[in-house]
Amino acid sequence: MIYLDYSATTPVDARVLQAFLEAGAVCGNYNASNGFGRIVKNKLDDAVAQLQMLLDTPNHEIICTSGATESNNLAIKGVCRRDTGKIITTNFEHASVYAPITALQKRGFKVAFVRTQANGLVDVAHLEELLDEQTCLVSIAAVSSEIGYLQPIDQLAALVHQKSKAVLHVDATQAIGKMEISLADADLVSFSAHKFYGVKGVGVLLKRQGIPLMKELVGGHSLSKLRSGTPPTELILSMTKALALWQSEKKERLQKVALLRSLLEQQLALLPYVRVNNPGSIAHIANLSVRGKTGEEMQKFLDENEIAVSVGSACSATPYSRIVEEITADLQTAKESFRVSLSHLTTEAEVMQLVECLKEVH
Ligand code: PMP
Repeated sequence: MIYLDYSATTPVDARVLQAFLEAGAVCGNYNASNGFGRIVKNKLDDAVAQLQMLLDTPNHEIICTSGATESNNLAIKGVCRRDTGKIITTNFEHASVYAPITALQKRGFKVAFVRTQANGLVDVAHLEELLDEQTCLVSIAAVSSEIGYLQPIDQLAALVHQKSKAVLHVDATQAIGKMEISLADADLVSFSAHKFYGVKGVGVLLKRQGIPLMKELVGGHSLSKLRSGTPPTELILSMTKALALWQSEKKERLQKVALLRSLLEQQLALLPYVRVNNPGSIAHIANLSVRGKTGEEMQKFLDENEIAVSVGSACSATPYSRIVEEITADLQTAKESFRVSLSHLTTEAEVMQLVECLKEVH
């Protein structure tokens, strides 16, 4: 089996697993005021300080969560505490951003979608038009899981803060541990460790100092007052390890993925019935369409040939990808689209096997 679905999740790095096991061998509850608790507290406080350094976000509080789904929910519901207001978002968000926004819409919030241009970037002039006094939240993913374009977070943050009192939430789940990204100006930032070779079930919400946020879970406090529950030492320490590994190995990892993406695109250029829908995206995410085959048919065909890719729109409101339709201005292409996601662990032989398989489809 060939795995080309690294944007869905990544395998746990053996060194991360080792960090998990070592952390798990230390007994003690962060919240306990005894010697065991103090040992764990020291370890976790050090891990949080290290995370802050690795992310280069000294002005953000680190709220450890169970992953990006929880972080997105906490951010969106935590900001929109009143009964009215306007939320601006895009057509390329994950379901864990759409669902809380849709729930808020039902409660009376207005929701506006900012346009995405053909080059995959948010239309800044349109965002400026949409921002007004009512706007309380702008939620934009740093990198879309479907089309993989890296948004200019600094520029978006400057505009949001200049033109409104809104809070900027950035779902950076497909960016952190994968791309160089500056988060200093974002008010809230979500991510999950399992997207960068960490274990599943842990993530972070970064909260810039002074941003008011209402917590979801009540009953006791722990690492952060905004997220109750015994901090999972093994999960947090292993996430820190995964991020440290990314920081020390990013140059080689990025070079390798860029090489694989250009090999893929060179080979696909020889197949006129295959279209790359997201040229210039981050190298990890290739969104492809094969003429005359739906994305589901392609996924099934590749699955039968032991190659795992993914299909499906991040927004469940449509059976096809709304964002691929938006950037290509073509419904057919959107219905035919599927995602191939690469890693530094992917081999050239695996890419070639995918290409060979695509040669057989027509
Ligand atoms: N946001 C994005 C952009 C994602 O790709 C994902 C995972 N597919 C999530 C949020 C949710 O992450 P998790 O399932 O780890 O909570």
